[in-house]
Amino acid sequence: MTFPLSFEFFPPKTPEGADKLRTVRQALYAKAPEFCSVTFGAGGSTQDGTFATVGDILAEGHSAASHFSCVGATRSRVREQLATLQAMGVNRLVALRGDLPSGYGAGGEFTYASDLVAFIRAETGDHFHIEVAAYPEVHPQARSAEADLQAYATKVKAGANSAITQYFYNSDAYFRFVEDAHRLGATVPVVPGIMPITNSSQLLRFSDACGAEVPRWIRLRLQGYGDDSASIKAFGLEVVTDLCEQLRAGGAPGLHFYSMNQSVPTLAVLGQLGL
Ligand code: FAD
Repeated sequence: MTFPLSFEFFPPKTPEGADKLRTVRQALYAKAPEFCSVTFGAGGSTQDGTFATVGDILAEGHSAASHFSCVGATRSRVREQLATLQAMGVNRLVALRGDLPSGYGAGGEFTYASDLVAFIRAETGDHFHIEVAAYPEVHPQARSAEADLQAYATKVKAGANSAITQYFYNSDAYFRFVEDAHRLGATVPVVPGIMPITNSSQLLRFSDACGAEVPRWIRLRLQGYGDDSASIKAFGLEVVTDLCEQLRAGGAPGLHFYSMNQSVPTLAVLGQLGL
């Protein structure tokens, strides 16, 4: 039996980026993903690029999920965007609150992702398979770990079918999260989000911003390699492969790769896993 895989892309900003992403997608399609997803800039900033990339994936004969963030959005705008996606033949969404870049006023008619999930269900019934975000290491703005878990359960009960996690390098956090969510009655599949390690400074900066923890031993090893990118990649491959093996052995229902619009790092991990 094949193990469910999905790959995440961001919408390219230039024609060269779009060409490169086309090649990346073809390489990753060889792994028969369940779906490929495309991120959505909060406030709708990437809407055209997101929808165009989703359309390309569908035209290439693969299942596509559009990420969809609601921060700053009005109900009528979201209704229009849902109708556009339905007309395109999209039947999978990753429903998010999103983060507005500083300088944008919040405004909008949605406060949390749970409001968006409930709205999508009320407007479109069961048309969409809805994924939501999960945070095994706790969302950075959460009042407490327990409040974040409750917020996750609320989001699931509003009508989500499954969840994808923020990336992490500590499998215990994932297994505990799944167990705790079940205790609250949120029993939908939680697919781990996997971030291949290819670059040390970018990973450390990005992780600080999104609340993902890079364990001390990994951080120090990465910093110790300095500019030696071959050693960073080799070490990163080993760490991420081990993580995926632990997740599969522990019953994770699939793996979702943050591809960063590159095929080589994801394919390297899948190769090591024999997938
Ligand atoms: P929510 O689930 O609404 O949670 C946000 C915060 O509010 C949390 O701290 C939560 O604890 C708290 N909260 C929720 N409900 C309540 C409540 N009822 N009462 C009190 N507090 C509450 N961002 C993008 O802009 N575009 C993307 O395409 C994108 N894709 C992503 C994909 C994945 C798989 C993940 C994990 C994240 C993604 N993000 C994306 C980032 C995401 O938008 C941010 O992490 C954002 O800060 C939170 O979005 P959310 O949907 O998890 O929000």
